[in-house]
Amino acid sequence: MERTLITGGAGFLGSHLCDYFVLKGHQVICMDNLLTGNMENISHLIGHERFSFIKYDVVEFIYVQGHLDNILHFASPASPNDYLNFPIHTLKVGSLGTHKALGLAKEKKARFLLASTSEVYGDPLVHPQKEEYAGNVDPVNPRGVYDEAKRFAEAITMAYHRSHQVDTRIARIFNTYGPKMRLNDGRALPTFMVQALKGDDLTVFGDGSQTRSFCYISDMVEGIYSLLYSGEHLPINLGNPDEISISDFAQEIIALAGSKSRITYKPLPSHDPKVRQPDITQAKTLLGWNPKVSRKDGLRKTVEYFKKKIPEALNR
Ligand code: UDP
Repeated sequence: MERTLITGGAGFLGSHLCDYFVLKGHQVICMDNLLTGNMENISHLIGHERFSFIKYDVVEFIYVQGHLDNILHFASPASPNDYLNFPIHTLKVGSLGTHKALGLAKEKKARFLLASTSEVYGDPLVHPQKEEYAGNVDPVNPRGVYDEAKRFAEAITMAYHRSHQVDTRIARIFNTYGPKMRLNDGRALPTFMVQALKGDDLTVFGDGSQTRSFCYISDMVEGIYSLLYSGEHLPINLGNPDEISISDFAQEIIALAGSKSRITYKPLPSHDPKVRQPDITQAKTLLGWNPKVSRKDGLRKTVEYFKKKIPEALNR
């Protein structure tokens, strides 16, 4: 039986990975300091014989008893609001936390997969983004804390691979959505869902012409799994290339929720990328992976989750 450590396992992506790897027969150790993660995401797994949870901050030396086959390093604040609220912790978990997780992978001779991000491309001047594009990042803008932390994380991951022969992978994850997103994490999708379902105005930043490409969580989890068992050490983009402007996205959510909400425009945050679309040629050819869930189907599943969660949040 494979033993897999998932750092950030109580977060949105991490908790879906915990489910998936338990389902695949792994013994899963979930580690999270709960800064932005949430026990509710994994509460159904507590008590499962192949699941354990350790509340821990991976910025500190990580000790895990017994062997490990895989380390999935997903610990980090990941929404712009979160990393702007926790800039130093974001830098520390991307740098010191990745160093500790790599040290553990070296010690245990485990496969290591880094959750990197489309943010390494910053505000891209090349469109769509291919892995070979080195990005356009300003290190001292407020958003730079996440971008540079992940760029450092990629650099140290490659260094551990090249110098210590650690069996590493790097997933450059583009916008991903689905159930278990935090209602108030500030990202476009949960914010718009909550606003549309409550009948409030949707807050589009800037003129809404900036684009994103949204990938449904089940596709992303399968992509991460395929990458882990591939032999690819260089970064691989994972995401759904179906690109949409943020104002059209807001309209789609209003229509889906059957809402009478309107759109109000707010200032565009500093260094908000103007375009984003993954080139997934590498994932398709090297991993045989291709996202399957259309935005229409994915949003339909996601709105059901928000419909259930909003009354619960209001009653608390
Ligand atoms: N956005 C918006 N209204 C919101 C939240 C976000 O218009 O209430 C915009 C944001 O400025 C960005 C896009 O939606 O252009 C996606 O933002 P998100 O926070 O989801 O993540 P990002 O892709 O920027 O990391």
